[in-house]
Amino acid sequence: MASLVEGKTGSWEVVIGMEVHAQITAHSKLFSGASAAFGGEPNAHVSLVDAAMPGMLPVLNEFCVEQAIRTGLGLNAQVNETSVFERKNYFYPDLPQGYQISQFQHPIVGKGEIEIDLPDGSVKTIGITRLHLEQDAGKSIHDQHPTKSYVDLNRSGCALMEIVSEPDIRSADEACAYWAKLRMILRYLGTCDGNMEEGSMRADVNVSVRKPGAPLGTRCEIKNVNSIKAVQMAVDYEVQRQIEIIEGGGKIDQETRLWDPAKGATRSMRSKEEAHDYRYFPDPDLLPLHVGADWIANIKQTLPELPDQKKHRFMEDYGLNAYDSSVLIAERERADFFESGAKGRDAKLVANWILNELLGLLNKDGKDLSSSPVTAAQIGGLIDLITDNTISGKIAKDVFAQMYASGKDAAAIVETQGLRQVTDTAAIEKIIDEVLAENPDNVAAYRSGKDKLFGFFVGQVMKKMGGKANPSAVNDILKSKLGRS
Ligand code: ADP
Ligand code: MG
Repeated sequence: MASLVEGKTGSWEVVIGMEVHAQITAHSKLFSGASAAFGGEPNAHVSLVDAAMPGMLPVLNEFCVEQAIRTGLGLNAQVNETSVFERKNYFYPDLPQGYQISQFQHPIVGKGEIEIDLPDGSVKTIGITRLHLEQDAGKSIHDQHPTKSYVDLNRSGCALMEIVSEPDIRSADEACAYWAKLRMILRYLGTCDGNMEEGSMRADVNVSVRKPGAPLGTRCEIKNVNSIKAVQMAVDYEVQRQIEIIEGGGKIDQETRLWDPAKGATRSMRSKEEAHDYRYFPDPDLLPLHVGADWIANIKQTLPELPDQKKHRFMEDYGLNAYDSSVLIAERERADFFESGAKGRDAKLVANWILNELLGLLNKDGKDLSSSPVTAAQIGGLIDLITDNTISGKIAKDVFAQMYASGKDAAAIVETQGLRQVTDTAAIEKIIDEVLAENPDNVAAYRSGKDKLFGFFVGQVMKKMGGKANPSAVNDILKSKLGRS
């Protein structure tokens, strides 16, 4: 269905398809035993295979194949029992083989789909065209020497999954939602850590515009788009650029463009005429890859609960709304934290404390849950004290702040500071009598109709009792003493 961003793109419909390169989280590379760890001394993680020494032969990493299958299953996609590794030939200094081993005609994963969650709360399905396995390249380094370039082959040969979408995406918001959802699924599956600063997830974004109902327009492919913010900005920029050209009577050249984050603009890298002829052919060093149906079925058995399933279960089992559920499931660790705290407790209350209090403080400190000073059990302990009326909700906030600062249990803080709620009506009554005796004018004013003063009396009582009086007992006794209810 056509969706238009009125005002921004006028009567033009935006069409986007994304190619995401996701590095497989693995100890070793796709065709060698060298370490696939990020960083390290330059050229410390390089085997003779990665350096393309003559006569070296690639050996396929079974674990990486398994992760690609797992990802295909997580994307609701067809896993192909037969796939073929081909050589994609081009010359570049960071590619010592002179070709990249990739899959072309026969990828390991075919068509699939994922649901994306849009800012207005709606859900849309985006088609996945394919997922194939390929090697990453090394890195040329141009800024270390005035006249020389260096090369670091640590990344050379690391396993990538290239995940290609159908041109189903219709706006920058949808592109961001697609990227975020894909990242979430990969992280749930554990097949890619989604670490964008380390380049574990990189996107090429294909953008075109057309009038709704018209055939697809000519696309430009934007490379080097490596964060959600960059996706948003690059698409917005590119859409405006294309609309201006077409409305100015020009036409779009199919080309590869580069996103320049510093300039906030895309610029031409190469046009279609200069496009490579990669001379793909099956790699004679690697037999076609056959994966058995039983292996695929076994991997399917081990899939974790995925984000959408978890979100719906949280809504049904815990009575949470869609928004709270989606925030809680955004990270698997966060969802687990919530579930362990919610066990046997008022789940909505637990969700509120995590979402409104804990995540707020962590966010402010730039921390995530793994470094939270308050554990799920400790949040649970605090909530138990609220539910059994040991402390009021208001005191609980102060207790929580102290828990966060000190890592101590709620019960310990409540005991050492004497924060237990006073429910003893005789004690509350005594304080109320004092307050009323001290404020005869206000008592008279209240009795003659100034209802608003009720809050004043509550405040005075609470103040005298250090905020610890049970609020409903204070209300009840005050009402009966003041003679109006
Ligand atoms: P290539 O490998 O040359 O980049 P593909 O056919 O594999 O070409 O397409 C790459 C990506 O471009 C896919 O994600 C696809 O959905 C997207 N795409 C194809 N045509 C268009 C178009 N007209 N506008 C926007 N995206 C497109
Ligand atoms: Mg492409």
